[in-house]
Amino acid sequence: SCAWTLVSRPKGAPTLENLALKDISDQPLNDGEIRVKNSFFSVDPYMRPRMNEGESYIAPFELNEPMTGAAVGRVIETRSNRFKVGDRVSHFLGWRDVATLKAEDALPLPDIDLKDEYFLDVLGTIGMTAYFGLFAVAEARPGDVVFVSAAAGAVGSLVVQIAKLRGMTIIGSAGGTEKCDFVRSLGADHVIDYKSPGPFQEKLRKAAPDGLDVYFDNVGGEQLDAAMGVAKWNSRFAICGMISMYNSDTPIGFSNLSYIISKRLQVRGFINTDFMARRGECLAQMGYWVSKGMIKSRYTIFDSLEKGPEAFFSLFSGGNTGKALVRLGS
Ligand code: NDP
Repeated sequence: SCAWTLVSRPKGAPTLENLALKDISDQPLNDGEIRVKNSFFSVDPYMRPRMNEGESYIAPFELNEPMTGAAVGRVIETRSNRFKVGDRVSHFLGWRDVATLKAEDALPLPDIDLKDEYFLDVLGTIGMTAYFGLFAVAEARPGDVVFVSAAAGAVGSLVVQIAKLRGMTIIGSAGGTEKCDFVRSLGADHVIDYKSPGPFQEKLRKAAPDGLDVYFDNVGGEQLDAAMGVAKWNSRFAICGMISMYNSDTPIGFSNLSYIISKRLQVRGFINTDFMARRGECLAQMGYWVSKGMIKSRYTIFDSLEKGPEAFFSLFSGGNTGKALVRLGS
């Protein structure tokens, strides 16, 4: 089997030169281990900061070691009584076709009629990020005016839908007409194409003439600055991600930062794992909405292990709509 490894740390946008597909020969299993044939692995924006050296909430990728990340697959070999051959599991050894891991590092997935993709999206950490970011971190309530950026992406497209289900007014931003149409189809009340000409803050002000109660930030930069400008007093900011800044080491000039003080903005960063203890609550609610067809899932699928880097790079050029995944051949 093979895995993608990081061979050099990118400066700016990552390129194929930073990555190499390497053979990882399958050793015999040790006691307590399982072998999993991956059906899908996830590519996620946070993997870009993991390519840098330095401290974060998750260790950087090691040079010349296989990269990791969320994956789903079936057990093909086992030396543990926790799993039998054929069991469906999720785990953290993505970026490869076959994973060998300790059984306790795999999460059993229910044998229900739901496609593997769901467990890397709405019923995985993406769902937790949208659910807890909106309801717990931003404390969003029915009637709130909520702005969410990267609204056609994995997290953003869920935020739009669950905010709508809870009776909020939603403004979503995305790049390009096609993505904006998609965001509208999810139930957003106003859509802003951030790539269209003109200052973003003016467009946001027009969409929210009375101001924002909540901003769910996926991109940082200009859109975060604009949201501070248009925020109401005491409004709540869930700072989820800052993808517009991940490939850059140049600081962005914010002109509205002092509104944090004057408008008493509540700006809170979070990581989905902060809410692991409440995972059951999220799964129950999201599972209910999915089972009733009240949440639509959209995927951009890249076929074959070789397409891993292309799938990952697409996140930074907006090549994905919904969740970006790599599908592995059978
Ligand atoms: P997405 O599926 O949203 O993919 C990324 C999207 O970001 C692209 O499709 C693109 O959409 C948009 N984008 C890329 N570059 C820029 C830019 N310069 N300016 C504005 N938008 C840009 O990814 P995810 O849903 O997985 O992640 C969204 C955000 O949430 C990321 O910042 C990520 O780091 C964060 N995150 C945080 C978690 C947490 O626990 N805190 C967990 C998961 C994700 P477009 O075409 O519209 O530009």
